[in-house]
Amino acid sequence: MLKGKTALVTGSTSGIGLGIARALARQGANIVLNGFGDAKAPQAEIEALGVQVAYHGADMSRPADIADMMASAASRFGRVDILVNNAGIQHVAQVEDFPPEKWDAIIAINLTSAFHTSRLAIPAMRAANWGRVINVASTHGLVASAGKSAYVASKHGIVGFTKALALETATTGVTCNAICPGWVLTPLVQKQIDDRAAREGIAVEQARRDLLAEKEPSLQFTTPEELGELAVFFCSPASNNVRGVAWNMDGGWVAQ
Ligand code: NAD
Repeated sequence: MLKGKTALVTGSTSGIGLGIARALARQGANIVLNGFGDAKAPQAEIEALGVQVAYHGADMSRPADIADMMASAASRFGRVDILVNNAGIQHVAQVEDFPPEKWDAIIAINLTSAFHTSRLAIPAMRAANWGRVINVASTHGLVASAGKSAYVASKHGIVGFTKALALETATTGVTCNAICPGWVLTPLVQKQIDDRAAREGIAVEQARRDLLAEKEPSLQFTTPEELGELAVFFCSPASNNVRGVAWNMDGGWVAQ
């Protein structure tokens, strides 16, 4: 379905971004990977699906890096047809204890980077009259949790940004939507489970069960594969008129 298209997925060396990159590659899209850590293994794995893969190590907190990544993707593939703004970080602390530099980093990486990638990708999408911007927000883009002020602010912000961009492109073939996962068992969440086990003096397995029970009626993690298939749906013709939604895939978290 996506043969000949190019998808750039920020923060795709692990977790949800890698799951989305895999799913889009299975539909034939060429992929631009981004993120820290080992990029060779994901690059080889996705190339084995028969698509072209590039990697750019841009730091999403640095606008100049982002501009370089977008320019290099355009020069390699012509344009970015599908932009997935996924890179994100977390820090948990009460507002009065929240390190200001962590606040700035979370807003820069989780929210402002999506503005920069989008402003640079949209002109070519408009010219082609086809494009998809998919923002990986969170249930924390719809409801809050204590201790996560910066994350909640960034994710509510990106849901708002999604709606504004969807309106600006509403009469074109470019759409913009958000995905709002509940708990997904990635390194970002494993750290919160490990912290909880240490803080409460309980086993990691117990901390994992408690984390789920607190928020997710299904008592199940959402998987990167499931989120990848939702991204594929947003890229399909069936989604041509799906604009500005914030779609939760969260085991019932925000239905409560
Ligand atoms: P992860 O830690 O597995 O992956 C994060 C990715 O972002 C990695 O590839 C990492 O290298 C990259 N990254 C981090 N900082 C970066 C930077 N400055 N520049 C470029 N890349 C950077 O986390 P994940 O759980 O897969 O999270 C992906 C997205 O999903 C995030 O936006 C997160 O907020 C969101 N999310 C996660 C969950 C969850 O339960 N895991 C739930 C809701 C939303």
